[in-house]
Amino acid sequence: MPFELLPGTPDSPVLLHVPHAARTIPEPVRRGILLDDAALEDELDQLTDAHTDILAERAAAAARVTPWRLVNRLSRLVVDPERFPDEREEMRAVGMGAVYTHTSHRARLRPPDADPRPLLDAYFTPYAQAVTDAVDARLAATGRAVLIDVHSYPSKALPYELHGAGARPPVCLGTDAFHTSDELLAHARRAFAECGGTAVNSPFAGTYVPLRHYGRDARVSALMIEIRRDGYMAEPGGAPGPGIEPLAEALTRLVDALS
Ligand SMILES: [Zn+2]
Repeated sequence: MPFELLPGTPDSPVLLHVPHAARTIPEPVRRGILLDDAALEDELDQLTDAHTDILAERAAAAARVTPWRLVNRLSRLVVDPERFPDEREEMRAVGMGAVYTHTSHRARLRPPDADPRPLLDAYFTPYAQAVTDAVDARLAATGRAVLIDVHSYPSKALPYELHGAGARPPVCLGTDAFHTSDELLAHARRAFAECGGTAVNSPFAGTYVPLRHYGRDARVSALMIEIRRDGYMAEPGGAPGPGIEPLAEALTRLVDALS
């Protein structure tokens, strides 16, 4: 199953989006990746937002009004659903557009002549449609939609990061000028206040909104949460630690404030 929409309460406007938690790569896609198995495991350790699916699951279970969840069950090394599929994507400059050609350490991930279109058709397009549909369903049911993007990031910058010199707070909140209201940001700051400190748009900026709604539909609000991994897990690629509990509680507080 490439992704899963996990239903919440019919009158919840909140959609928790978890794009980068999985490590699974289908075998035919694996064959198009140049790394040997050990190097691939290492790359997955670096790039996977490990256990963010557990965070979203716990928050959904504890919330007063159960939010909806859209969870990617495939690795971002298959396709990265959060990138623009074309020239608008700044990460293409480092070989990490929707279909990565390079690793987080700037080595080749796919051959230079690899055609990204079959992967975009098979994985990227259906996924983008599913997020769009899930947002539309919240709009139809409640008149608004609140898209909360749940990520994590390494405590030490990886070579691919375009803005790696910026502050790396325990919790980074990514905002969009059109889709993130001051009120939404204030809710998030309050909810995560006890998790060691937040900063806005550093080291990762912006937040994901489906293209159909992006910059057009003010009923869609959105916020990205990037949790620094040393706060809840052994880096890189290790098990979750006790820090995951207060973070799940913080995410629950945020969901409750938005429902
Ligand atoms: Zn991520």
